[in-house]
Amino acid sequence: MLNLSLKKLSQALEKKEFTSVELTQFFLNRVKKLNPSLNAFITVDEAKSMAMAEKSDQLIQAGKKTMLTGIPIAQKDIFCSEGWKTTCGSKMLENFISPYDSTVIHKFNDIGAVNLGKTNMDEFAMGSSNETSYFGPVRNPWDLNCVPGGSSGGSAAAVAARLAPAATGTDTGGSIRQPASLCGFTGLKPTYGLVSRYGMIAFASSLDQAGPMAISAEDCALMLDVMTGHDEKDSTSLDRKKENYSNFLDKKIDGLRIGIPKEFFEDGLNSDVQKVIQEALRQYEKLGAKIIDISLPNNHLAIPAYYVIAPAEASSNLSRYDGVRYGYRTKEYDDLMDMYFKTRQEGFGDEVKRRILIGTYVLSAGYFDAYYLKAQKIRRLISNDFKLAYEKCDIIMGPSAPSVAFKSGEKQEDPLAMYMQDIFTISTNLAGLPAMSIPAGFINELPVGLQLIGNHFEETKILNAAHIYQKNTDWHLKSPKGID
Ligand code: GLN
Repeated sequence: MLNLSLKKLSQALEKKEFTSVELTQFFLNRVKKLNPSLNAFITVDEAKSMAMAEKSDQLIQAGKKTMLTGIPIAQKDIFCSEGWKTTCGSKMLENFISPYDSTVIHKFNDIGAVNLGKTNMDEFAMGSSNETSYFGPVRNPWDLNCVPGGSSGGSAAAVAARLAPAATGTDTGGSIRQPASLCGFTGLKPTYGLVSRYGMIAFASSLDQAGPMAISAEDCALMLDVMTGHDEKDSTSLDRKKENYSNFLDKKIDGLRIGIPKEFFEDGLNSDVQKVIQEALRQYEKLGAKIIDISLPNNHLAIPAYYVIAPAEASSNLSRYDGVRYGYRTKEYDDLMDMYFKTRQEGFGDEVKRRILIGTYVLSAGYFDAYYLKAQKIRRLISNDFKLAYEKCDIIMGPSAPSVAFKSGEKQEDPLAMYMQDIFTISTNLAGLPAMSIPAGFINELPVGLQLIGNHFEETKILNAAHIYQKNTDWHLKSPKGID
């Protein structure tokens, strides 16, 4: 069960080689054994998961099985899940039990997948190392002294150490792809609006997007088949025909034009990472693809623009945590204002407070034009760069992250160094494009991720290119030592 793909697990359930109850128990046992050193899960509820597995077995018995029925999936603790604690990695929501399901959770429940538990994450998804979680840092299974990346670090560690066959994540500026790169598995951020944000705790609403985290592109495609679809409960959910992402994986990639932005290979990229990426590109050439030089001239503005837009939206979204309706409330206070102040002072961690302060500042009357409006204009420039690039190529490739996993604590005191982790991922969020990270090699036994960026709605193209690469290489099948 340990290393089987989702398709193989599904076939085994179909053939009754094992039941969902057995499969779920197998992974819960792994969580019990390995979670104390990884801290990948915030909430594990064995009784709930097993009850879901029993129901899934009934569905299978009744012949109502679809591809992921009976398969346990770890869910990032940003997705509201009815009856489950949903904390978003924050003290503010430490005891919040969600009264409803997010659409993503609903879709998995609907087809009889099993919720294996809620995974650890940076507080309100703000971070690149999973060190801002109120529930403690997550460790990288490849080296416990290193960070797993963030903010979906719990899901990342869970997939890399095979505590779960697959997991969900969210990506506002890189939080699926950067941890996928640092932990050596496959992660995909869909086109903005493809997966409903309903019930997904909001960080920066114009950027947030949920996606799959799994061993292979094929597994990600199968999860995407479940996760996407129009949802009238999310005003930014796109009303378009649902695609089948797993049907086009095997298409030949002869003549595929791969654009390589020169800006992705300038300062800031570790030279060993660069070598791994270049080797992966040579592999693509061998597979029949053509490499084309392109330019994304405004990429260097992506981080500054993001760190105006994302905090602005966050400061607005997080104003709901006032101690009145739900979540944490301070114990002692004099009056209403005092209650607000103390609740937010005690309930939020430092990184969240930093973003609220920045966001409130850039939105304030005197500074709106200078910062927020300017950042929105840059966002448009970045989008246009991609538009022009896609006139010359079919997909864009480059590194997912500037380095391999770094040591815990190394960047904690230096927010700007931390923000640079997303230098290759953020521009795609600003442009709303789909992008994924796939394992492409190692440096000193730490994984390196290759990023594939598609044009809007071209998930099938990047999944296809990733799948063909994975059929010809085995980087994605390697797993960290000491987890068997
Ligand atoms: N690291 C980025 C940030 O801290 C992105 C986080 C994310 O994608 N959720 O904002």
